[in-house]
Amino acid sequence: MSNERMLEGAVKTAEGVELKGMVLEAVVEQCDGCDRIREFEGEKFCTSYPFPAKKWVLGDCNFATHVARVTASGKKINPLKASKRAARGGK
Ligand code: SF4
Repeated sequence: MSNERMLEGAVKTAEGVELKGMVLEAVVEQCDGCDRIREFEGEKFCTSYPFPAKKWVLGDCNFATHVARVTASGKKINPLKASKRAARGGK
């Protein structure tokens, strides 16, 4: 999928880059390495959330693809492998 398709419908306005009536905020430093980042008009945006900085206020962003999660049993989960596992049916 191309970058444009992921931010399909985004337009540059006087206020900034707008998508579905919302002005998007650029990603923050913590987002570096996340697969959900797409570039548009020379800036980087998140395809899942319009205000990336807010996703990091209370801890790690729950949509991040580059942050290893630790389960209750203390096992680290690779988010990419976990999402592939979920797509296969959970095991
Ligand atoms: S999913 Fe989270 S970490 Fe990834 S770009 Fe969006 S806000 Fe940043």
